[in-house]
Amino acid sequence: MARILITAGPTREAIDDVRFLSNRATGSFGVMLAAIAKQRGHQVTLVLGPSSLQAAAGVEVLRVESAQEMFEAVQANFANCDVFVSSAAVADYRPKQRIDGKLKKQEGELVLELERTPDILAWAGAHKEPHHFLVGFALESDPDPALAESKLVRKKCDLLVHNSPKNFGVGGGLVRIIDVAGEVFAGEIDKAALASRLLDEVAARCGQR
Ligand code: C5P
Repeated sequence: MARILITAGPTREAIDDVRFLSNRATGSFGVMLAAIAKQRGHQVTLVLGPSSLQAAAGVEVLRVESAQEMFEAVQANFANCDVFVSSAAVADYRPKQRIDGKLKKQEGELVLELERTPDILAWAGAHKEPHHFLVGFALESDPDPALAESKLVRKKCDLLVHNSPKNFGVGGGLVRIIDVAGEVFAGEIDKAALASRLLDEVAARCGQR
């Protein structure tokens, strides 16, 4: 039994009290991974961004909205997990200022100033202890394998899933799983099979420690 912390879903970055910036992630992969991990007897905490999906019974769910809230939930739970799977599509930018109330329309253009959000997985990599095992995702429209490999190293992941925006919100697609030694898997796979495969790879690697 491992303690598995999973982030899933999109985040919402508020412009004002009514509007936000977000992305097309649904959270389906992370919710499914949490369910399969729970079925396998693991202790699962799911940090879930805005998603219409419900987590399986027995999964501890921490609902968050923004990247900052997701970051704080991960910071509070990281030390007590063995495996961190960062499957959330965290917004990379947020409005620099949140406007109170509803922004009024005006004549002409509106320029929104954005700032970077915290990189949660990079923080986890920087605070990784020997008992931690990190799984990252790289959603790239560019199929160049070097991009995913550099992300694996930069964010200190033990495994990384390289997938494509084409797989957003659908049942599955073409993915690669890599570790520092190279390619572990490449091919078409549905989300449930990918979740099972990832848990198998994690178990095999954690068992060797
Ligand atoms: O650098 P990039 O955003 O492509 O990295 C993707 C990986 O980093 C994913 O695992 C994602 O969950 C994680 N990430 C994060 N916090 C961010 C941006 C990405 O945890 N602000």
